Amino acid sequence: MSGDDSRSEAEADDRGRDGDPPADRAFVCRECGRRWYYTKPQCPDCDSDPSAHGTEELGEGTVRAVTRVEVTPADVRSPNRLALADFDGVGLIAQVAGDDDPTAGDHVAFAGSFTLRGDGDRPQPRLRVIEDGE
Ligand SMILES: [Zn+2]
Repeated sequence: MSGDDSRSEAEADDRGRDGDPPADRAFVCRECGRRWYYTKPQCPDCDSDPSAHGTEELGEGTVRAVTRVEVTPADVRSPNRLALADFDGVGLIAQVAGDDDPTAGDHVAFAGSFTLRGDGDRPQPRLRVIEDGE
């Protein structure tokens, strides 16, 4: 039975890699208009398959919550600041760039993707605080 398990996991992984957009883009369903961030096998609203899913730029988001991880592994910065941000209904959690220290209500944009740890790590999005008018 373990053979069946590993095969289905590999199929799911391949689908995820193929479907991953750049970090600053959301998936959008061409059937119903629903938007979301993390790779899904089907639209959460209308169940359409990935052939009906495009992507669009997320632009500017609003911080909903923040947290700081003070005790981190040796190869991860401390404190490690994370933000839960909302991009017009699309929510995601990401590391905050540099020394930015956002609070709820601040506006953020993508600062690119970074690997948190060694070469084997998947690139992850990072957010930066933007001032009004920037
Ligand atoms: Zn849909």
